[in-house]
Amino acid sequence: MHEHRDESDLVRPEDACPNCGERDVDRLIWVDDDCVRCATCGTDYNPLEQAPCA
Ligand SMILES: [Zn+2]
Repeated sequence: MHEHRDESDLVRPEDACPNCGERDVDRLIWVDDDCVRCATCGTDYNPLEQAPCA
């Protein structure tokens, strides 16, 4: 395991989970073409439009 984490493990700040601010790419899972599910808090959102999933 890497103890040091760098920006390559994180999505852009503007793409972070709108609910909890999660940015870890391993915890933000694409569930549709334009929908991501945050594994930390369970929120689904559209990072492209900064909006909830349809
Ligand atoms: Zn979240």
